Amino acid sequence: MTMKALIKETAAPGLTLTNTREIPVPQKGKVLVRVKIASICGTDLHIYQWDNWAAGAGIKVPCISGHECVAEVVKLGEGAQSVSIGDRISVETHIPCGQCQLCQNGKQHICENLSLFGLHTDGCFSEYAIVPEVTLRKVPDAIPDEIAAMLEPIGVGVHAAQVSDVQGKNVAVLGAGPIGLFSACASLALGARSVSISDLKQSRLELARECGEMTIWNPLETPASTVMGSNAPDVIIETTGSERSLIDALPYLRKGGNVTMAGLFREEVSVNLSRDLVFKEATFKGIHGRKMWDTWDLMETLILQNKLNVAPAATHRFQLEDFSEGFRVASTGEAMKVLLYP
Ligand SMILES: [Zn+2]
Ligand SMILES: [Zn+2]
Repeated sequence: MTMKALIKETAAPGLTLTNTREIPVPQKGKVLVRVKIASICGTDLHIYQWDNWAAGAGIKVPCISGHECVAEVVKLGEGAQSVSIGDRISVETHIPCGQCQLCQNGKQHICENLSLFGLHTDGCFSEYAIVPEVTLRKVPDAIPDEIAAMLEPIGVGVHAAQVSDVQGKNVAVLGAGPIGLFSACASLALGARSVSISDLKQSRLELARECGEMTIWNPLETPASTVMGSNAPDVIIETTGSERSLIDALPYLRKGGNVTMAGLFREEVSVNLSRDLVFKEATFKGIHGRKMWDTWDLMETLILQNKLNVAPAATHRFQLEDFSEGFRVASTGEAMKVLLYP
């Protein structure tokens, strides 16, 4: 039996749709799932375009990319018993080794020997996918498929807000791409006093406004001083990976504040550490992925309590056959999240 799959055939730009890929058989500790919806991530754009980052990410071609999805369990490999056939699941991208010191101490998400679903293994831009049992997450029935397909990136936003101690605080989110948007939504859900969000794209800011009560601002039109000068942030969540955006915001951080870094920077960044960190007793923290499984527990609770209004983030839907258009709108920033139906 064969299936549809989007294949990265060679270490070069592009992806190829095939109908002739064999449906894989789940080996020990693995599970075969039927993908209902997959969602395009920024990482997938890098892989699609095959830029320097993708070329250095340890991806072995040919492979199937894609890591954000909702799927249904169809076959269990030997020893897999935490799920049953027919269960609806989402996937945690970070595949831990389970053996290292970090894994043994509740930090599987930053495992010493971390590998990534859809990068170092075949992913979910296909009708069926093989998922390691340790990364499966059963999705509560009340969470709709489209939200379930986005749980992985929503989880990054929840993780960012969770570690930033946002309750009762003024939160400034830099960047209104998916991770920034989800961080802002999670900050509201976790009781932030106020949330502001910045982006160079007006359409992204308008969408953010649909998700909750936040101050939106465009740095091309409004200087950081106008937004943060009179209402200093206690928390800055950085998701742009832009040096300019970070260093413009840091001087306004309140003393004792938290800066949570989620964006990836292409270059080294120059920060005034004495002024912006030491004298303020500020805390700088990086986050990578989601805690397993605290972040998922919290995220699902917030969604089930209708506190996390993220549904507007799913802006575009395509059949897998029309993936080129999906990748196009995702890369121009026209779309927030693009969903692919295999
Ligand atoms: Zn992702
Ligand atoms: Zn490990």
